[in-house]
Amino acid sequence: MSDTALVAVLVAGVAGILAGLAGAASRGREDGRRRPGFRSSPHYSEGLHALATGQLELAIHELDKVRREHPDSVEVQQVLSHLYREVGKTERAIEIHRALIARRDLTRAERAYALASLGTDYRKAGLLDRAADAYREALLVEPKNLHALAGQQKLHEDQRQWREAFEIQTRIARMRKSDDALVLGFLQTELGREALAAGRRDAAFEAFRTALSLDRRVFPAHLALADLWLERDPRRAAQVLEDAIATVPERAYLAFSTLQRAYAACGEPSRFAALCERLVGQDPRDWRARLGLARHLRALNRPGEALGLLLRAVEANPHVLLVHLEVWRTLRAMSSLGPEEQKYVATVEESALYVDPHICTACRYRADDMLWRCPHCHEWNTLVEERVGPAAGTR
Ligand SMILES: [Zn+2]
Repeated sequence: MSDTALVAVLVAGVAGILAGLAGAASRGREDGRRRPGFRSSPHYSEGLHALATGQLELAIHELDKVRREHPDSVEVQQVLSHLYREVGKTERAIEIHRALIARRDLTRAERAYALASLGTDYRKAGLLDRAADAYREALLVEPKNLHALAGQQKLHEDQRQWREAFEIQTRIARMRKSDDALVLGFLQTELGREALAAGRRDAAFEAFRTALSLDRRVFPAHLALADLWLERDPRRAAQVLEDAIATVPERAYLAFSTLQRAYAACGEPSRFAALCERLVGQDPRDWRARLGLARHLRALNRPGEALGLLLRAVEANPHVLLVHLEVWRTLRAMSSLGPEEQKYVATVEESALYVDPHICTACRYRADDMLWRCPHCHEWNTLVEERVGPAAGTR
């Protein structure tokens, strides 16, 4: 495909998105009293082109001209405010949405959509109470407005109100006939965790089981359930984790430590080695299964075999620090190191390792490299080299 053809396809795609947004905004209007003339504006095409080439600021610049030429156009205002929010100018988005809502000529659908969008602006700006009010108002205008419902759901998630988030997500799934079982399962798992923290074990059990009946792929529900079974019935705990691994093999390593304890409690510790070998057999590049097995062997005082496994894991994944750490530990266990080398490896073992540690002075975000803008709090020039003191235990 030539570059020009590609751009054409992109523009068509973005135009489709915009038409979709505008359509959502103007749904319900049928009398044609404000047939959109803005599409004939050259700035509209320029704006679309800028969008297609990822130049959001330029797109905003052009679409703002369209807005001034066609101040009545609800669609352009909606799209523009979305773009402002996208580039982080939330206060501009809020301004436009509030001006829209103040108009008396909106259809119900347009008003509900503008209110829901305003809610999302507030949520992005961290003004949670105002966001909740805006969503509620949108739902008064249009009780089945999906944007407002989805916004309310996210708002509850932000505030760790899992019960409310679950109820709304259930409604959304029913309304749009989508399969949201995985998300619902994760929300149930959070409910279970909450119950557990409050000492309500039965409720926790119930929630984790519900999570898995919704979707077997909710891995943390398997983990939590196994933790609950571990003391009472380790055989059952092992069964839960084996099921989990069969369902989501790529997450198997997350179950390793509990599984090891469960097998040991059943008096069959060798089943762990068998499991790891099976996983390596299924996927020879599975360095986590090799690492798990190597740790197991080192604990059994068989460091020579462990080292063999680890060296093959290093071959496949030389960039994974965890594997190197285990190599050093294993070398130490083989007592093939002199006292100075022993001391060095001990220091490494006790350290949290960063290739080149830097930390944000504004939000304490840790990075492995020097960055000019913090990816977490978005402040400029706040990263400095982190001077970590000696590792715990050597002080
Ligand atoms: Zn930061």
